[in-house]
Amino acid sequence: MVGGRSTLVLSMKRRQFIRFGAALGALSVVKPGQASTVLSQSFQGKASGPIVLSTWNHGLAANEGAWKVLKNGGSALDAVQNGVMVTEADLSNRSVGVGGRPDRDGHVTLDACIMSGDSRCGSVAFLEGIAHPISVARAVMERTQHVMLVGDGARQFALEQGFETAKMPIDEVKKDYQEWRKMNKDLFKKPNINHENHDTIGMIAMDAEGKLAGACTTSGWAYKMHGRVGDSPIIGAGLFVDDQVGAATATGLGEAIIRVAGSHTVVELMRHGYSPFDACKEACMRIISKHSDFDLKGLQCGFIALDKEGNYGAYSIYNGFNFALRTTEGEALIDAKFDRSW
Ligand code: ASP
Repeated sequence: MVGGRSTLVLSMKRRQFIRFGAALGALSVVKPGQASTVLSQSFQGKASGPIVLSTWNHGLAANEGAWKVLKNGGSALDAVQNGVMVTEADLSNRSVGVGGRPDRDGHVTLDACIMSGDSRCGSVAFLEGIAHPISVARAVMERTQHVMLVGDGARQFALEQGFETAKMPIDEVKKDYQEWRKMNKDLFKKPNINHENHDTIGMIAMDAEGKLAGACTTSGWAYKMHGRVGDSPIIGAGLFVDDQVGAATATGLGEAIIRVAGSHTVVELMRHGYSPFDACKEACMRIISKHSDFDLKGLQCGFIALDKEGNYGAYSIYNGFNFALRTTEGEALIDAKFDRSW
């Protein structure tokens, strides 16, 4: 859990973001091979027809995976699974899937969940050695009577179902971990939680039939305590979807997102008339208001949301959060609006 003020040592080092500003000429920074049209960017907007949004820079490639499904009339559920599998398989990604960083004891433990707008959902947490936790989460949803499997039980289920295994941590990550251990002898019992050492992929989508789905997958906080699970695999915290209203997903300090059932809060606010942008903003404000015991410096959380009409929006507590958007008109990587700066 989030501890008192002294328990978190936070690095203020910013990651490098690809920024699109209208003035910068957005086309020049889109990765080649992706959509030919770059949307004029906005932290909120509306799409007609299929749409997919996902968290962070890696969302561009993930959206591409989802778009392959959506553009052929496939379901939002297949799209989000296909989309986040791209990120899970990306060995250069240090916060999702096979290339993820381990916990403080050297184990890569993966968390994922998937939800369809008809309220079906599945989740896995604290899962080791399986290449695509999102597919296991979907299998939990479709092939069991349960919503969530964790740890050895989740792994046993994945193996029984024939899911691909993978060796983790990969060599490069293991080397970094060994360095980290040398440098952090004092912190070994109390992990140094660094907000730069994470970046979940959360994805939400609407298909041509207007059905919604979402997926969320992560290796969680780097060098977390063994056994720690964040918001990402928790339905209502890291992800929530309701065809009657909309969908939302979260990234950032999972402990804070769980406190306010973040993604569910966003969807419920939309149910009561908030726009996706306003709902994301209100959820961030809720988190701030519920953390009077916490040094807010470094408490980064971000939400993206989509309503059933195709309106989308995003908001984060601190600057630095961005999301990738794909519609029939093109794509964009968009900086979210935020409450405060580092
Ligand atoms: N929310 C994730 C977690 O707490 C981390 C992240 O979004 O980057 O595990």
